[in-house]
Amino acid sequence: MSSPASDSPSTVGAQHRGAPNTQARKIRAGVLGATGLVGQRIVQLLANHPWFELTEVAASERSSGKTYSEAVRWHLDAPIPSSARGLVVKGLDTTLECDFVFSALDSSVAGSAEEAFARAGYAVVSNSRNHRMAPDVPLLIPEVNAQHLEAIPLQQKNRGYSSGFIVTNPNCSTAGLVLVLKPLADAFGLEKVFVVTLQAISGAGYPGVAAMDIQANVVPFIGGEEEKMEAEPQKLLGKWDGARFVEAGLGLSAHCNRVPVIDGHLECVSIGLKKIASLHEVSEALRNFEISPELAALPSALRNPVVVLEEENRPQPRRDVNTGNGMAAVVGRVRECPLLDVKLTLLSHNLVRGAAGAALLNAELLAARGFLKRPVPAQDLQLAEPVGR
Ligand code: NAP
Repeated sequence: MSSPASDSPSTVGAQHRGAPNTQARKIRAGVLGATGLVGQRIVQLLANHPWFELTEVAASERSSGKTYSEAVRWHLDAPIPSSARGLVVKGLDTTLECDFVFSALDSSVAGSAEEAFARAGYAVVSNSRNHRMAPDVPLLIPEVNAQHLEAIPLQQKNRGYSSGFIVTNPNCSTAGLVLVLKPLADAFGLEKVFVVTLQAISGAGYPGVAAMDIQANVVPFIGGEEEKMEAEPQKLLGKWDGARFVEAGLGLSAHCNRVPVIDGHLECVSIGLKKIASLHEVSEALRNFEISPELAALPSALRNPVVVLEEENRPQPRRDVNTGNGMAAVVGRVRECPLLDVKLTLLSHNLVRGAAGAALLNAELLAARGFLKRPVPAQDLQLAEPVGR
Protein backbone atom coordinates (compact mmCIF):
# COMPACT_ATOMS: atom_id res chain seq x y z
CA MET A 1 0.00 0.00 0.00
CA SER A 2 1.25 3.47 -0.77
CA SER A 3 0.70 6.41 1.54
CA PRO A 4 -1.27 9.45 0.35
CA ALA A 5 2.07 11.20 0.52
CA SER A 6 3.40 9.22 -2.41
CA ASP A 7 0.60 10.46 -4.68
CA SER A 8 1.73 14.06 -4.71
CA PRO A 9 5.11 15.72 -4.95
CA SER A 10 3.85 18.53 -2.74
CA THR A 11 2.88 16.25 0.15
CA VAL A 12 5.75 16.18 2.58
CA GLY A 13 5.10 13.52 5.19
CA ALA A 14 6.53 10.59 3.25
CA GLN A 15 9.52 10.17 5.53
CA HIS A 16 7.34 10.29 8.65
CA ARG A 17 9.90 12.01 10.79
CA GLY A 18 8.71 11.85 14.38
CA ALA A 19 5.98 9.41 13.36
CA PRO A 20 4.63 6.68 15.58
CA ASN A 21 6.56 3.44 15.15
CA THR A 22 4.94 1.87 12.09
CA GLN A 23 6.73 -1.45 12.74
CA ALA A 24 4.29 -1.80 15.60
CA ARG A 25 0.59 -2.30 14.95
CA LYS A 26 -1.08 0.71 13.37
CA ILE A 27 -3.33 2.92 15.49
CA ARG A 28 -6.89 1.63 15.12
CA ALA A 29 -9.45 4.19 13.92
CA GLY A 30 -13.23 4.06 14.03
CA VAL A 31 -15.48 6.32 11.94
CA LEU A 32 -18.82 7.48 13.37
CA GLY A 33 -21.11 8.53 10.51
CA ALA A 34 -19.00 6.42 8.12
CA THR A 35 -21.82 6.12 5.57
CA GLY A 36 -22.20 9.89 4.98
CA LEU A 37 -20.39 12.09 2.47
CA VAL A 38 -17.67 13.08 4.92
CA GLY A 39 -17.49 9.64 6.53
CA GLN A 40 -16.84 7.89 3.24
CA ARG A 41 -14.06 10.35 2.41
CA ILE A 42 -12.44 9.48 5.74
CA VAL A 43 -12.84 5.77 4.97
CA GLN A 44 -11.14 6.35 1.62
CA LEU A 45 -8.27 8.38 3.10
CA LEU A 46 -7.67 5.73 5.78
CA ALA A 47 -7.33 2.93 3.20
CA ASN A 48 -3.71 3.79 2.43
CA HIS A 49 -2.75 5.50 5.64
CA PRO A 50 0.72 4.76 7.02
CA TRP A 51 -0.17 5.26 10.71
CA PHE A 52 -3.88 4.44 11.02
CA GLU A 53 -6.02 1.43 10.11
CA LEU A 54 -9.81 1.46 9.91
CA THR A 55 -11.24 -1.17 12.26
CA GLU A 56 -14.79 0.09 12.97
CA VAL A 57 -17.55 1.89 11.10
CA ALA A 58 -20.69 3.18 12.80
CA ALA A 59 -23.82 5.00 11.66
CA SER A 60 -27.58 5.12 12.30
CA GLU A 61 -30.02 2.27 12.86
CA ARG A 62 -30.74 2.43 9.12
CA SER A 63 -27.23 1.11 8.47
CA SER A 64 -26.20 -0.87 11.53
CA GLY A 65 -25.98 -4.63 11.13
CA LYS A 66 -25.26 -4.36 7.38
CA THR A 67 -21.82 -4.66 5.86
CA TYR A 68 -20.29 -1.31 4.93
CA SER A 69 -20.69 -1.99 1.20
CA GLU A 70 -24.40 -2.78 1.72
CA ALA A 71 -25.06 0.24 3.91
CA VAL A 72 -23.18 3.01 2.11
CA ARG A 73 -24.38 4.96 -0.92
CA TRP A 74 -20.84 5.40 -2.27
CA HIS A 75 -20.21 8.74 -4.03
CA LEU A 76 -16.49 8.65 -4.77
CA ASP A 77 -14.96 7.82 -8.13
CA ALA A 78 -12.58 5.17 -6.73
CA PRO A 79 -14.23 1.95 -5.50
CA ILE A 80 -14.94 1.29 -1.82
CA PRO A 81 -11.61 0.22 -0.26
CA SER A 82 -11.52 -3.57 0.04
CA SER A 83 -10.48 -3.28 3.69
CA ALA A 84 -13.75 -1.46 4.46
CA ARG A 85 -16.27 -3.35 2.32
CA GLY A 86 -16.91 -6.22 4.70
CA LEU A 87 -16.81 -4.30 8.01
CA VAL A 88 -20.13 -4.60 9.83
CA VAL A 89 -21.65 -1.19 10.55
CA LYS A 90 -22.24 -0.71 14.28
CA GLY A 91 -24.47 1.68 16.18
CA LEU A 92 -23.21 4.47 18.40
CA ASP A 93 -22.29 2.37 21.40
CA THR A 94 -19.02 3.13 23.12
CA THR A 95 -17.45 -0.33 22.93
CA LEU A 96 -15.93 -0.03 19.47
CA GLU A 97 -12.64 -1.87 18.93
CA CYS A 98 -10.47 1.10 18.08
CA ASP A 99 -8.01 3.50 19.70
CA PHE A 100 -9.80 6.70 18.65
CA VAL A 101 -12.78 7.79 16.56
CA PHE A 102 -13.43 10.25 13.80
CA SER A 103 -16.91 11.74 13.99
CA ALA A 104 -18.71 12.63 10.77
CA LEU A 105 -22.12 12.40 12.39
CA ASP A 106 -25.10 14.50 11.53
CA SER A 107 -25.18 17.39 14.00
CA SER A 108 -28.54 16.20 15.39
CA VAL A 109 -26.71 13.31 17.10
CA ALA A 110 -23.05 14.39 17.13
CA GLY A 111 -23.19 16.46 20.33
CA SER A 112 -24.21 13.76 22.80
CA ALA A 113 -22.54 10.89 20.91
CA GLU A 114 -19.15 12.62 20.85
CA GLU A 115 -19.40 13.38 24.57
CA ALA A 116 -20.26 9.75 25.31
CA PHE A 117 -17.24 8.49 23.34
CA ALA A 118 -14.90 11.00 25.00
CA ARG A 119 -16.23 10.01 28.42
CA ALA A 120 -15.63 6.35 27.56
CA GLY A 121 -11.94 7.09 26.93
CA TYR A 122 -11.81 7.68 23.17
CA ALA A 123 -10.13 10.63 21.51
CA VAL A 124 -12.87 12.10 19.29
CA VAL A 125 -11.73 13.91 16.14
CA SER A 126 -14.89 15.66 15.03
CA ASN A 127 -16.19 17.34 11.89
CA SER A 128 -19.46 18.42 13.42
CA ARG A 129 -20.35 21.88 14.58
CA ASN A 130 -21.66 20.92 18.03
CA HIS A 131 -18.52 21.41 20.16
CA ARG A 132 -16.48 23.74 17.94
CA MET A 133 -17.04 26.89 19.96
CA ALA A 134 -17.01 25.25 23.42
CA PRO A 135 -14.60 27.11 25.72
CA ASP A 136 -12.49 24.01 26.42
CA VAL A 137 -12.51 22.30 22.99
CA PRO A 138 -9.73 22.97 20.48
CA LEU A 139 -11.04 24.10 17.09
CA LEU A 140 -8.00 23.05 15.13
CA ILE A 141 -6.24 23.70 11.85
CA PRO A 142 -2.71 22.39 12.52
CA GLU A 143 -1.04 24.95 10.23
CA VAL A 144 -2.85 27.77 12.05
CA ASN A 145 -3.25 27.04 15.76
CA ALA A 146 -1.57 23.79 16.85
CA GLN A 147 -0.91 25.52 20.18
CA HIS A 148 -4.65 25.21 20.99
CA LEU A 149 -4.13 21.50 21.74
CA GLU A 150 -2.83 22.70 25.12
CA ALA A 151 -6.51 23.04 26.10
CA ILE A 152 -7.02 19.26 26.17
CA PRO A 153 -5.92 18.64 29.79
CA LEU A 154 -8.28 21.37 31.02
CA GLN A 155 -11.13 19.90 28.95
CA GLN A 156 -10.50 16.49 30.53
CA LYS A 157 -10.43 18.01 34.01
CA ASN A 158 -13.55 20.15 33.45
CA ARG A 159 -15.56 17.28 32.08
CA GLY A 160 -14.27 14.39 34.14
CA TYR A 161 -12.89 12.60 31.06
CA SER A 162 -10.09 10.16 31.90
CA SER A 163 -8.11 9.68 28.69
CA GLY A 164 -10.77 10.78 26.18
CA PHE A 165 -11.29 14.26 24.72
CA ILE A 166 -12.85 16.10 21.78
CA VAL A 167 -10.98 18.04 19.09
CA THR A 168 -12.89 19.61 16.18
CA ASN A 169 -12.14 20.98 12.73
CA PRO A 170 -13.88 24.08 11.41
CA ASN A 171 -16.79 24.50 9.08
CA CYS A 172 -15.87 23.74 5.45
CA SER A 173 -15.93 27.34 4.22
CA THR A 174 -14.01 28.59 7.29
CA ALA A 175 -11.18 26.10 6.72
CA GLY A 176 -9.96 27.55 3.41
CA LEU A 177 -10.52 31.15 4.49
CA VAL A 178 -8.50 30.86 7.69
CA LEU A 179 -5.66 28.99 6.00
CA VAL A 180 -5.31 32.00 3.68
CA LEU A 181 -5.78 34.61 6.42
CA LYS A 182 -3.12 33.09 8.71
CA PRO A 183 0.01 34.13 6.76
CA LEU A 184 -1.49 37.60 6.23
CA ALA A 185 -2.24 37.91 9.95
CA ASP A 186 1.34 36.94 10.77
CA ALA A 187 2.93 39.27 8.22
CA PHE A 188 0.70 42.35 8.29
CA GLY A 189 -2.01 41.92 10.95
CA LEU A 190 -5.70 41.77 10.06
CA GLU A 191 -8.29 44.45 10.69
CA LYS A 192 -11.35 43.54 8.62
CA VAL A 193 -12.48 40.73 6.37
CA PHE A 194 -15.47 40.74 4.03
CA VAL A 195 -16.22 37.41 2.35
CA VAL A 196 -18.81 36.17 -0.16
CA THR A 197 -18.94 32.39 -0.63
CA LEU A 198 -20.07 30.23 -3.56
CA GLN A 199 -20.48 26.86 -1.90
CA ALA A 200 -20.77 23.42 -3.47
CA ILE A 201 -23.78 21.15 -3.10
CA SER A 202 -21.76 18.41 -1.36
CA GLY A 203 -21.32 20.78 1.58
CA ALA A 204 -24.91 19.97 2.54
CA GLY A 205 -24.36 16.21 2.90
CA TYR A 206 -26.44 13.65 1.02
CA PRO A 207 -29.04 14.10 -0.48
CA GLY A 208 -28.51 17.76 0.40
CA VAL A 209 -30.18 20.47 -1.65
CA ALA A 210 -33.05 19.32 -3.89
CA ALA A 211 -32.23 19.32 -7.62
CA MET A 212 -35.28 21.52 -8.26
CA ASP A 213 -33.76 24.18 -6.00
CA ILE A 214 -30.17 24.19 -7.21
CA GLN A 215 -30.20 23.19 -10.90
CA ALA A 216 -29.34 26.33 -12.98
CA ASN A 217 -29.79 28.43 -9.87
CA VAL A 218 -28.09 30.09 -6.88
CA VAL A 219 -29.57 29.92 -3.37
CA PRO A 220 -28.45 32.96 -1.35
CA PHE A 221 -28.93 31.31 2.05
CA ILE A 222 -27.28 28.42 3.93
CA GLY A 223 -28.74 27.96 7.39
CA GLY A 224 -26.27 28.85 10.16
CA GLU A 225 -23.34 29.20 7.76
CA GLU A 226 -22.75 32.95 8.02
CA GLU A 227 -22.83 32.76 11.82
CA LYS A 228 -20.23 29.95 11.76
CA MET A 229 -18.01 31.84 9.31
CA GLU A 230 -18.12 34.97 11.43
CA ALA A 231 -17.43 33.16 14.73
CA GLU A 232 -14.98 30.33 13.99
CA PRO A 233 -12.11 32.41 12.51
CA GLN A 234 -12.07 34.47 15.73
CA LYS A 235 -11.26 31.35 17.74
CA LEU A 236 -8.89 29.84 15.15
CA LEU A 237 -6.83 33.03 14.76
CA GLY A 238 -6.94 33.77 18.48
CA LYS A 239 -4.77 32.37 21.28
CA TRP A 240 -5.04 29.82 24.07
CA ASP A 241 -3.77 31.71 27.15
CA GLY A 242 -3.47 28.67 29.41
CA ALA A 243 -7.01 28.95 30.75
CA ARG A 244 -9.21 30.11 27.88
CA PHE A 245 -9.33 30.94 24.20
CA VAL A 246 -8.83 34.65 23.49
CA GLU A 247 -10.54 35.67 20.25
CA ALA A 248 -8.73 37.47 17.43
CA GLY A 249 -11.06 40.48 17.56
CA LEU A 250 -11.35 40.68 13.80
CA GLY A 251 -14.08 42.63 11.97
CA LEU A 252 -15.68 39.91 9.84
CA SER A 253 -18.74 39.82 7.59
CA ALA A 254 -19.81 36.77 5.53
CA HIS A 255 -22.40 36.23 2.79
CA CYS A 256 -22.96 32.53 2.01
CA ASN A 257 -24.49 31.18 -1.21
CA ARG A 258 -25.14 27.66 -2.50
CA VAL A 259 -24.20 27.20 -6.17
CA PRO A 260 -24.59 24.27 -8.60
CA VAL A 261 -21.05 22.93 -8.16
CA ILE A 262 -20.43 19.40 -6.85
CA ASP A 263 -17.23 19.87 -4.81
CA GLY A 264 -15.24 22.98 -3.87
CA HIS A 265 -16.15 26.19 -2.09
CA LEU A 266 -15.08 29.39 -3.87
CA GLU A 267 -14.77 32.55 -1.74
CA CYS A 268 -14.36 36.20 -2.81
CA VAL A 269 -12.55 37.98 0.00
CA SER A 270 -11.69 41.63 0.74
CA ILE A 271 -9.17 42.18 3.51
CA GLY A 272 -8.16 45.22 5.55
CA LEU A 273 -4.59 44.92 6.87
CA LYS A 274 -3.02 46.59 9.91
CA LYS A 275 0.26 47.34 8.09
CA ILE A 276 0.55 48.77 4.58
CA ALA A 277 1.62 46.06 2.11
CA SER A 278 2.05 45.95 -1.64
CA LEU A 279 0.18 43.38 -3.72
CA HIS A 280 3.51 41.69 -4.38
CA GLU A 281 4.20 41.41 -0.64
CA VAL A 282 0.74 39.94 -0.05
CA SER A 283 1.19 37.35 -2.82
CA GLU A 284 4.64 36.45 -1.52
CA ALA A 285 3.39 36.07 2.06
CA LEU A 286 0.76 33.61 0.80
CA ARG A 287 3.10 31.76 -1.54
CA ASN A 288 5.86 31.45 1.07
CA PHE A 289 3.62 30.25 3.88
CA GLU A 290 5.51 27.17 5.04
CA ILE A 291 4.63 24.78 7.82
CA SER A 292 6.86 23.85 10.75
CA PRO A 293 9.10 20.75 10.68
CA GLU A 294 6.77 19.08 13.19
CA LEU A 295 3.82 19.47 10.81
CA ALA A 296 5.90 18.55 7.78
CA ALA A 297 6.29 15.09 9.34
CA LEU A 298 2.53 14.47 9.14
CA PRO A 299 1.53 12.23 6.21
CA SER A 300 -1.30 14.48 4.95
CA ALA A 301 0.47 17.82 5.34
CA LEU A 302 1.49 20.10 2.47
CA ARG A 303 4.72 22.00 2.94
CA ASN A 304 3.08 25.07 1.34
CA PRO A 305 -0.66 24.74 2.02
CA VAL A 306 -1.56 27.93 0.12
CA VAL A 307 -1.09 27.78 -3.65
CA VAL A 308 -1.15 31.08 -5.57
CA LEU A 309 -2.20 31.01 -9.23
CA GLU A 310 -1.36 33.80 -11.68
CA GLU A 311 -4.03 33.17 -14.35
CA GLU A 312 -6.72 35.85 -14.25
CA ASN A 313 -9.59 33.33 -14.40
CA ARG A 314 -8.48 30.92 -11.66
CA PRO A 315 -9.06 29.24 -9.26
CA GLN A 316 -12.03 27.30 -10.61
CA PRO A 317 -13.72 24.45 -8.73
CA ARG A 318 -13.63 21.96 -11.61
CA ARG A 319 -9.98 22.59 -12.46
CA ASP A 320 -8.39 23.34 -9.13
CA VAL A 321 -10.34 21.59 -6.38
CA ASN A 322 -7.94 18.65 -6.07
CA THR A 323 -4.77 20.76 -5.82
CA GLY A 324 -2.44 19.19 -3.23
CA ASN A 325 -4.67 16.11 -2.89
CA GLY A 326 -7.53 18.48 -1.99
CA MET A 327 -5.59 19.83 1.02
CA ALA A 328 -4.50 23.17 -0.48
CA ALA A 329 -6.21 26.53 -0.33
CA VAL A 330 -5.87 27.84 -3.89
CA VAL A 331 -5.68 31.62 -4.28
CA GLY A 332 -5.95 33.78 -7.39
CA ARG A 333 -6.79 37.32 -8.49
CA VAL A 334 -4.81 39.10 -5.76
CA ARG A 335 -5.58 42.75 -6.43
CA GLU A 336 -6.28 46.12 -4.86
CA CYS A 337 -9.58 46.63 -3.08
CA PRO A 338 -11.08 50.16 -3.25
CA LEU A 339 -12.93 49.58 0.05
CA LEU A 340 -10.40 47.60 2.11
CA ASP A 341 -6.75 46.99 1.14
CA VAL A 342 -6.57 43.83 -0.92
CA LYS A 343 -9.02 41.40 -2.48
CA LEU A 344 -8.59 37.85 -3.76
CA THR A 345 -10.46 34.71 -4.71
CA LEU A 346 -9.84 31.41 -2.92
CA LEU A 347 -10.95 27.83 -3.40
CA SER A 348 -10.80 24.84 -1.09
CA HIS A 349 -12.18 21.30 -1.26
CA ASN A 350 -15.06 21.28 1.21
CA LEU A 351 -14.98 17.50 1.77
CA VAL A 352 -11.19 17.19 2.03
CA ARG A 353 -9.58 20.42 3.34
CA GLY A 354 -12.91 21.38 4.90
CA ALA A 355 -13.81 18.02 6.44
CA ALA A 356 -12.24 14.55 5.99
CA GLY A 357 -8.67 15.66 5.21
CA ALA A 358 -8.85 18.28 7.96
CA ALA A 359 -9.89 15.66 10.51
CA LEU A 360 -7.18 13.29 9.30
CA LEU A 361 -4.50 15.97 9.65
CA ASN A 362 -5.80 16.76 13.14
CA ALA A 363 -5.58 13.07 14.07
CA GLU A 364 -2.05 12.87 12.68
CA LEU A 365 -0.96 15.81 14.82
CA LEU A 366 -2.61 14.22 17.86
CA ALA A 367 -0.79 10.95 17.11
CA ALA A 368 2.55 12.68 16.64
CA ARG A 369 2.11 14.45 19.98
CA GLY A 370 1.22 11.19 21.75
CA PHE A 371 -2.43 12.04 22.42
CA LEU A 372 -3.86 8.88 20.81
CA LYS A 373 -3.89 5.98 23.23
CA ARG A 374 -5.99 2.87 23.38
CA PRO A 375 -9.14 3.54 25.39
CA VAL A 376 -9.44 2.15 28.87
CA PRO A 377 -11.52 -1.10 28.71
CA ALA A 378 -15.19 -0.34 29.40
CA GLN A 379 -15.29 -2.45 32.58
CA ASP A 380 -12.41 -0.45 34.06
CA LEU A 381 -13.96 2.91 33.39
CA GLN A 382 -15.15 5.19 36.11
CA LEU A 383 -18.03 6.99 34.43
CA ALA A 384 -17.62 10.51 35.71
CA GLU A 385 -20.22 13.18 35.13
CA PRO A 386 -18.91 16.36 33.48
CA VAL A 387 -18.18 19.20 35.89
CA GLY A 388 -17.74 22.93 35.33
CA ARG A 389 -18.87 22.91 31.67
P1 NAP B 1 -24.36 13.14 5.63
O1 NAP B 1 -23.92 12.76 4.29
O2 NAP B 1 -25.79 13.50 5.85
O3 NAP B 1 -23.99 11.93 6.67
C1 NAP B 1 -24.47 11.90 8.00
C2 NAP B 1 -23.96 10.66 8.73
O4 NAP B 1 -24.54 10.67 10.05
C3 NAP B 1 -24.37 9.33 8.08
O5 NAP B 1 -23.35 8.37 8.27
C4 NAP B 1 -25.60 8.92 8.89
O6 NAP B 1 -25.80 7.52 8.95
C5 NAP B 1 -25.20 9.42 10.27
N1 NAP B 1 -26.39 9.61 11.11
C6 NAP B 1 -27.49 10.38 10.84
N2 NAP B 1 -28.40 10.24 11.85
C7 NAP B 1 -27.86 9.36 12.74
C8 NAP B 1 -28.31 8.81 13.98
N3 NAP B 1 -29.51 9.12 14.51
N4 NAP B 1 -27.51 7.93 14.64
C9 NAP B 1 -26.29 7.59 14.11
N5 NAP B 1 -25.81 8.09 12.94
C10 NAP B 1 -26.59 8.96 12.28
O7 NAP B 1 -23.54 14.40 6.19
P2 NAP B 1 -22.02 14.86 5.84
O8 NAP B 1 -22.04 15.89 4.80
O9 NAP B 1 -21.19 13.65 5.70
O10 NAP B 1 -21.63 15.63 7.19
C11 NAP B 1 -21.31 14.93 8.38
C12 NAP B 1 -20.95 15.96 9.47
O11 NAP B 1 -19.82 16.71 9.04
C13 NAP B 1 -22.08 16.98 9.72
O12 NAP B 1 -22.11 17.29 11.10
C14 NAP B 1 -21.66 18.17 8.87
O13 NAP B 1 -22.18 19.37 9.36
C15 NAP B 1 -20.14 18.10 9.01
N6 NAP B 1 -19.40 18.71 7.87
C16 NAP B 1 -19.75 18.45 6.59
C17 NAP B 1 -19.01 19.03 5.54
C18 NAP B 1 -19.35 18.83 4.09
O14 NAP B 1 -18.72 19.49 3.22
N7 NAP B 1 -20.31 17.96 3.72
C19 NAP B 1 -17.90 19.81 5.84
C20 NAP B 1 -17.54 20.02 7.18
C21 NAP B 1 -18.29 19.44 8.17
P3 NAP B 1 -26.87 6.76 7.97
O15 NAP B 1 -26.23 6.68 6.60
O16 NAP B 1 -27.01 5.42 8.62
O17 NAP B 1 -28.12 7.58 7.97
